[in-house]
Amino acid sequence: MENSQRALGWAAKDADGVLSPIKLSLRAKNDDDIIFKILYCGVCHTDLSTIKNEWGTARYPIVPGHEIIGVVIEVGTAVQNFKIGDSIGVGYIANSCLTCDQCKQNFENYCPNLIPSFNSPFHNGIESTGGFCNLFIVKEHFAIKIPENMPLEKIIAPLMCAGITVYSPMKYFGLNEKGKHLGVIGLGGLGHVAVKFAKAFGMRVTVVESNPEKRKEAMDVLGADSFLVSNCLEEMEAADGTIDGIIDTVPTVHDLHPIISLLKVHGKLIVLGGPSKPDELLTLSLIKAGKMIAGSCIGGIKDTQEMINFAAKHNITAEVEVIGIDYANKAMERLSKGDVRYRFVIDIVNSL
Ligand code: ZN
Ligand code: ZN
Repeated sequence: MENSQRALGWAAKDADGVLSPIKLSLRAKNDDDIIFKILYCGVCHTDLSTIKNEWGTARYPIVPGHEIIGVVIEVGTAVQNFKIGDSIGVGYIANSCLTCDQCKQNFENYCPNLIPSFNSPFHNGIESTGGFCNLFIVKEHFAIKIPENMPLEKIIAPLMCAGITVYSPMKYFGLNEKGKHLGVIGLGGLGHVAVKFAKAFGMRVTVVESNPEKRKEAMDVLGADSFLVSNCLEEMEAADGTIDGIIDTVPTVHDLHPIISLLKVHGKLIVLGGPSKPDELLTLSLIKAGKMIAGSCIGGIKDTQEMINFAAKHNITAEVEVIGIDYANKAMERLSKGDVRYRFVIDIVNSL
């Protein structure tokens, strides 16, 4: 490709998911594209599931990573709002059609032609390559402007996926109202930022976790108001009917009945992670108190910008373990066991 950029990344070559260095060519730059140097990239569970081909969607070699923060090094002639040297972020969405109903309503995340920022064919037949790489090219519409007063880039990278994934449903299901009581199921990468956003919205927050050891940190560090151990029947039943809405971040199959029981009449349960198995009994749990269950997937570009601006204003950052790219395979192994506090972020600029 004549004017394409050479890049260096780390890729998985097969379903073993082992990452190793790879040389790449980025797609050719269009007038409305931005090229940026990647500084930091968060590690999301979706990266792990994709490189292991758990959903049957893998297109090897895969350079994962979709919580990307960098600095602009080149702009196309039609780019309007970014200049060289600006801080920039890219999340899960690298492109969408911009003409369908969802795109027109700023829900690019539900566009049938969404192109993720990794593991997908892009323009010119070149695979999109994610954030485990030194360079990224993105159409301006899908780039997020990082406010100037944001702290160190490494602690905001996870907001690009984890942050918007919780912020968007909180906004659209009315679970961001001051004084309301929010439940957060699972205190991991998503859950811990959900607590931070909810506290910034002025809400009362209850964390529900299977690991009782997270109680102290949930309350003392993250500011949750209460903490329930999910398999402690006594604690769970005492909280029945007390919560307005719940964000469930657990990415594995789990029993939703005790969670639905926590909701007040007309309460809402929003599921973000993995497969749940609704059944007739679940339907009854919903029917008897006018409750609602809904799903949500990341968020649109406009909301991602709004989320990052809100985070900057309220000093919301992620709790991260910063690692070098050489630690990526070990990080994936630890992530598969949920052994991370609470998000790995790869220091790309200093290690790749
Ligand atoms: Zn993600
Ligand atoms: Zn669309």
